[in-house]
This record gives sequence, structure tokens and C-alpha cells, in this order.
Amino acid sequence: MSFTKQPVVFCDFDGTITVNDNIVAIIQHFDPPGWKPIVDDIIGERKSVRQGVGELFRLLPTTRREEITRFAIDQVQIRAGFKEFLQFCKENDIKFYVTSGGIDFFIYPILEQFDIPVDHIYCNASDFSGSQIEILWPHACDEMCQNDCGMCKTKIIRSFDPEQYDRYLIGDSITDFAGAKLVDHVYARSHLITKCEQLGLPHVPYTDFFDIMKHMTEPKAGAKV
Ligand SMILES: [Mg+2]
Ligand SMILES: [Zn+2]
Repeated sequence: MSFTKQPVVFCDFDGTITVNDNIVAIIQHFDPPGWKPIVDDIIGERKSVRQGVGELFRLLPTTRREEITRFAIDQVQIRAGFKEFLQFCKENDIKFYVTSGGIDFFIYPILEQFDIPVDHIYCNASDFSGSQIEILWPHACDEMCQNDCGMCKTKIIRSFDPEQYDRYLIGDSITDFAGAKLVDHVYARSHLITKCEQLGLPHVPYTDFFDIMKHMTEPKAGAKV
């Protein structure tokens, strides 16, 4: 592969690297009273993701930390081709970043088996020092973003100059859409496909990371050889 600009990939975690959404799996499994209206408010966009996710985890006591972490790690399924895709990025000098609205206490242990530098993983943080789990937001929105994302994907994408970088986004849900509008190439699954179709945003559907690798290496129609 040859590139004129430095390629960089921004890859979502929940529902993208993993088959399931880990936040939803944790909340459903531990089933604390009051979680359903919060999830409904996030989906209905009556609550920002940051506010809603903060409230959801505040329903869980820190005394169950080990149990919750163990559950998240044990139930996870990694999407096919992820390991091979990381290798492909290395071999082709493609920068790879995880940009996730998930939480550090499950993301770091799950990704430990893969060789991804810690400073290439963007996610939310957590504080177990009180009685309830408190989510921290080290990558909250800047003045350019009014979505109250929690982990602001667009802020990270904007820090890579489009003059210098060829920017790829891989995602699956509504929370990837603002980023999808910014980048040069979008690989989409699930709700992100629907959203891209509704708003006429070019995208390539994928099922697993083998599809993405195949598409990235294929000669493109109209492209200069
Ligand atoms: Mg996702
Ligand atoms: Zn934001």
C-alpha cells in the first residue's frame, strides 16, 4: 500500500472491537433499580451520554468492583479479524487509536492481550473510592463540541490535521456519527449505517475487521494508480 498522507484509524470499542455493548451488558446483568429510565433518556436524547452514563454507574456500589470487572472481562467477545487488523496497521504504518465512550476498568484489561500503546487508547475513567462508582471524564468536549459526549471523539479527530492525515473511522452507533462527518473514510455497522444513510454520508458497511482490511487494500475505482 502507498499513501500520500499518513493514514490514521479511529476505532470505537463497544459494539465495534467487541461484539456487544459492555456498558449495557454490565447494567443489564447487575440490574440496579432505576437504570431503565436513564437508558431510555439517553436513547431519546433527553439526557447527554455523559450525564446518563454517569448516573448509570452511580447506581452500582463500589463494593462489587471485582465482580463487575470480572463479569465485563468474562462476557466479552472480540470481533473477528481485530488482531489481524492491528498487525495490518503495523505493517502498513497506519496509526491506530481506540476512541471509546467506555470505561477504563473494563477496556484496559480486555485490550491487554493486544499490543496497543496505552496512549493510543482514549476512554473514560472511573473512581471507586466512594460508595458508588463515579465516572470521570478526562477527554470531555471542548468549546467546538456541544454534545456533552463524555469522551469526545470529535475533539480527538480534530487534533489530526486533515492536510497531513488521511482519517478513517470505524464505528457502529449514533455516538460515532459526529466523528463520521469529519473523517475521510467511514466503516459503519448497525445504527451508524442507518444514520449515514438517512443523512447521505458516504460509508462502507462491514461485518468484521477482515472486511475492512480487504477494502483498504483494494484498488478504488477512479483512484490514481
Ligand atoms: Mg460502539
Ligand atoms: Zn463532544
